[in-house]
Amino acid sequence: MKLERELACRQVVELVTAYLDDALDPVDRERFEEHLVFCDGCANYLEQMRATIRLAGGAGLVLPPALESRLLDAFNDWRTS
Ligand SMILES: [Zn+2]
Repeated sequence: MKLERELACRQVVELVTAYLDDALDPVDRERFEEHLVFCDGCANYLEQMRATIRLAGGAGLVLPPALESRLLDAFNDWRTS
């Protein structure tokens, strides 16, 4: 799969599942992560997906507890703003 130089938010949303499954090739993965650096909406979406998968016991993704609580705080801030 070849992507444009810069990902659109729509593409990021479409790629989230593949990203979490570690199914993106390295170039796409890098672009995906670059997008998250400057796009709070997609970064929050990724965390929401990650939390959902974890609650579902799906992909077996584990975050360090400190990082996890920081991300959840960020997500809760975003959701209530
Ligand atoms: Zn975005």
